[in-house]
Amino acid sequence: MEQKTEKKKVPVVPGWFSLDPPERLIGNRCKTCGDFFFPKVISCRNPNCRGTELEDVFLGTKGKLWSFTTNFYQPPAPYVSPLPFVPYTIAVVDLPVEKLMVAGQVVKGVDPDKLRVGMEMDLVMETLYEDAEGTEHVIWKWKPAA
Ligand SMILES: [Zn+2]
Repeated sequence: MEQKTEKKKVPVVPGWFSLDPPERLIGNRCKTCGDFFFPKVISCRNPNCRGTELEDVFLGTKGKLWSFTTNFYQPPAPYVSPLPFVPYTIAVVDLPVEKLMVAGQVVKGVDPDKLRVGMEMDLVMETLYEDAEGTEHVIWKWKPAA
């Protein structure tokens, strides 16, 4: 019998990204004007478009760092924090094809002093926390491209 040693992984926000390889964010795209959205919208947000037909799409996993900041203050619930609280860096990354800005935490272990606006960033999935049953709750993050 096959032994399953891999822990169960679930997305922190169901429906916002896929954990099936290749792991990607799920947005949607207006069928009328072609604009992309993340998180998904129910009708097009383009002020020059009245599109109501949108299709789910996987978003690109590479972009350029547009801005970033480090948070030294523990946000209130529903934010789940390691205890004691560990400051984390938030990056806003510009996806070139979708022309979308996507915010996310920077992966653990990256020195914010090494980040530079305009550098290439890759989307990765990282465990945000593990619950009492051992299930890993996963979120998307940004990592400087190798
Ligand atoms: Zn539209």
